[in-house]
Amino acid sequence: MPQPPILKIAEIFPSLQGEGLRQGEPTIFIRLSGCNLKCPFCDTKYAWKDGKQYSTEEILENVKKIWSLFPARWVCITGGEPLLQDVSRLVRTLRKEGFKVQVETNATLYQPLLVDWYSISPKPEKYFYRPEYRTRAKEVKLILTRNLDFELVRKLRKAFPEATPFLLQPQSNRKWSLNLGMKILNQSLRAGLKNIRLSLQLHKTFGLR
Ligand code: SF4
Repeated sequence: MPQPPILKIAEIFPSLQGEGLRQGEPTIFIRLSGCNLKCPFCDTKYAWKDGKQYSTEEILENVKKIWSLFPARWVCITGGEPLLQDVSRLVRTLRKEGFKVQVETNATLYQPLLVDWYSISPKPEKYFYRPEYRTRAKEVKLILTRNLDFELVRKLRKAFPEATPFLLQPQSNRKWSLNLGMKILNQSLRAGLKNIRLSLQLHKTFGLR
């Protein structure tokens, strides 16, 4: 019988990290079910559903099984929105087993976790984020939707330390979105904003999972 705490999981799978500064790094993904936002451009809508229930031990067992064939050092806890569920025990367990842990969140929720890499991606229209991430985020990813413009990017950029990289990510690598990114990047450069770059989704470019 599974022991509490139980987490609702959409999938656990090996791949390369497709986004952000860790792009290209072999990673085992744990995708948690459920999301508190319903972004129209979401590319993981299947994770909005309930998912399958796993204990921490069962998740670890699955991760270790994958690791025996694909010995990736990193585990990425993603969603949906993973912080809708208490992942503290899972994070502790994975780190005790020697994994580096990344959490990808839309930043509307916060848990004081000892993770190696908080990757945050505030979402339109309000681009709300919990203030705890100002000093904890290792990267800020902004999807280039039609809601995003230079003024918004400038406001967000100024709220975080200059050392925190900002990544403008075209929506599903679409051309109009890439053009918007180039425009905002150019405006950012001319305005003297630092540490801001374009970032394409590797997994979508090459049809990886
Ligand atoms: S926050 Fe992420 S997972 Fe949730 S709906 Fe938006 S894009 Fe999808």
